[in-house]
Amino acid sequence: KDFRNNIKPNWCPGCGDFSIQAAIQRASANVGLEPEQLAIVSGIGCSGRISGYINAYGFHGVHGRSLPIAQGLKMANRELTVLAAGGDGDGFAIGMGHTVHAIRRNIDLTYIVMDNQIYGLTKGQTSPRSSEGFKTKSTPAGSIETALSPLEVALAAGATFVAQSFSSNLKQLTALIEAGMQHKGFAFINVFSPCVTFNKVNTYDWFKENIVDLEEIPDYDPSNRVMAMTKIMETNGLLTGLIYQNTSKTSYENLVPGFKEEGLAKQNLKISQEDFNKLVSEFI
Ligand code: SF4
Repeated sequence: KDFRNNIKPNWCPGCGDFSIQAAIQRASANVGLEPEQLAIVSGIGCSGRISGYINAYGFHGVHGRSLPIAQGLKMANRELTVLAAGGDGDGFAIGMGHTVHAIRRNIDLTYIVMDNQIYGLTKGQTSPRSSEGFKTKSTPAGSIETALSPLEVALAAGATFVAQSFSSNLKQLTALIEAGMQHKGFAFINVFSPCVTFNKVNTYDWFKENIVDLEEIPDYDPSNRVMAMTKIMETNGLLTGLIYQNTSKTSYENLVPGFKEEGLAKQNLKISQEDFNKLVSEFI
């Protein structure tokens, strides 16, 4: 199964997004998908281009709106493996409302945030993930806001799968995307994806020096939500690996009356003219 297509990404050389593209392609093959079984929905930003760079169904949505589209897709066609992807600006600024509600809704899809802590496509402005004091064209004296902690938000919102990885660790990233695809519910994966052109603070070297891998923490238990929150706070959100997973919660589409067996795409929606007229009359 080949999830590569012949479109050459126009990301800057060295951009972390290349690894995320490769990890999605490898993970999709490793879990045994065919290209026609995978749909990728993206938002706007450098990261948003990813839906065009993978041999699968692709939908390049509008800014911050990948998740409503992805959730609709999964509800319509339960047989598709649905993946949403976008940047930290896309998911944690304009799209934050959708992110929180998609997490707590727990529809069976995987959401990958390509977190570079800056707006790259618009040439380098402070994002919700930029650290305090971070200087860009939009905050020349340094950001005075507190950086968002996506892992804490995800856990607090009731996430059933929370993971974090780093573009430089392709093996771990691929394994986490595979686990996310196989998780029966909403899988949230934040990926540190350095913007080599505009973010000169959170570089590959900076992450290598500061990241704590969960494999280095003995007795870590990803089913323990309190332990997960504690470790996130202790490491200032700089830990990687599978942070939390709850396999006991039923995913949203399996609870909605009328959708339990099949999505809309498989349902017989034919209605009689009489019923149709009755339905329309309720709206006029
Ligand atoms: Fe990647 Fe930054 Fe270049 Fe965008 S501007 S493609 S995020 S390196």
